[in-house]
Amino acid sequence: MIFRRLTAAALSTALAFSPSFVAGDVAGNDLPDFGDSSGSLISPTQEVALGEAFMRSVRAQTKLITDPVINDYIVQLGQRLVASSDAPNYPFTFFVVNNPAVNAFAGPGGYIGIHTGLILTARSESELAGVMAHEIAHVTQRHLLRAYESANQMSLPTAAGMIAAILLGVATGSTQAGIAGVTAVQAGNIQRQLNFTRANEKEADRIGIQTLARSGIDPYGMPSFFERLHQSTRLYGNNVPEFLSTHPITTNRIAESMSRAEQYGRSKERDTLEFRLTRTRLEVMESDNPQETLREYRALTKKQSSGPADRYGLALASWRANAKDAAVKQLHELMKDDPDRVLYRVTMAQLLMDNGQTQEALKLYKDTLSLYPGDLTVGQYYVAALIEAGKAGKARDQVLKMLRHKQARTAPIYELWAKASSISGPAWETNVASAEVYYLYGNLRFAIDQLQQALDHKGLSEYEQARIRARLQEFRQLTAANEHK
Ligand SMILES: [Zn+2]
Repeated sequence: MIFRRLTAAALSTALAFSPSFVAGDVAGNDLPDFGDSSGSLISPTQEVALGEAFMRSVRAQTKLITDPVINDYIVQLGQRLVASSDAPNYPFTFFVVNNPAVNAFAGPGGYIGIHTGLILTARSESELAGVMAHEIAHVTQRHLLRAYESANQMSLPTAAGMIAAILLGVATGSTQAGIAGVTAVQAGNIQRQLNFTRANEKEADRIGIQTLARSGIDPYGMPSFFERLHQSTRLYGNNVPEFLSTHPITTNRIAESMSRAEQYGRSKERDTLEFRLTRTRLEVMESDNPQETLREYRALTKKQSSGPADRYGLALASWRANAKDAAVKQLHELMKDDPDRVLYRVTMAQLLMDNGQTQEALKLYKDTLSLYPGDLTVGQYYVAALIEAGKAGKARDQVLKMLRHKQARTAPIYELWAKASSISGPAWETNVASAEVYYLYGNLRFAIDQLQQALDHKGLSEYEQARIRARLQEFRQLTAANEHK
């Protein structure tokens, strides 16, 4: 974990965090029992509740990357590492924070945030995976338990909001408003507990490298990334990357991780194309100078060493610089060699939409969905395109089909549902969908308000009423739990 060192005063910052305490259906049964070595620390159920509240605070406090392609890549890589970790059944959640600082962090409940700056700085998938494996190890080795215990002395939303602020580096000394109910002593306590000890860092490196090797990813990724960050400190001056400010990288640490990597040896797998394509997409889509980016990719693709990721970058950069025909041509070329790649298909469909070729775009999405049934990335783009094309009814059917699966119940998909139903569904349905969006963004009051409005509408079946009432009851219980603590 990585965060700025804060003074107690720095923690006095206005935060839009949410009240929340998740009870009921989130039993901790699936969680591994980590034993009782640290005494009376928080229970798995409490940790789940803290984690969910933390994530809602994160959404309220910072900008996350919503591009399904980028998120999906990070989730897949994360799950691959988790499968080879010491806690393969622990419910990790990976998300991407839109922040150029080279950083990653582990929050309560296995929520792991990856900064865009880290993805863009990594030169290989193994470097990115090295940092992620390190963060996963902080979770599996229970390094955060004492911080949670300190947090447990205060109300859950307050604790979750503060942990999120510290990890995101949002808390600054410039704001004066305090977090309700947090004393300077409590704040300092959490801050201290969130700072890992040298022993923790060493252990996270050791376990992290083991995870890398077990998952078939090059274990040298970790020392190689450390070394590069270490060398780059001279260039950064006072602007040291976040990762370094809390994970001091000494020559000793590099040497130790290097000798550990040597024990496992190099893995055969080189960089995946997915990594290079994802990094390229992030780089081009987030560029604030599309013309300059286009010039760069033109130069790159002229080199002998250029590959599909550079050509994909050229297609995207052309598109962003408004040279749509060139973009389509480039993508056609890529698809000739690799016709079933989801990323190419989705990008082509987006381009076609942008070009006014709606029918072709929708057909491509539909074909891609029949090739990869249930793919949430394709599904989300398809629903958004249907709405844009004025086919909200079809969009609603599609999103309802997706929502039958638990993993689809995310804020962006609920937002699509709200949008589609506001055009083509019963009025109460928009309220229900909006309630879920508000809930996931940490605003229980608005969520409750939406459900009450939903119940005011005529024409709800008894079943629908009962479902809404049950959800309303859950939200009210969460509110009450917060107020009583
Ligand atoms: Zn660490």
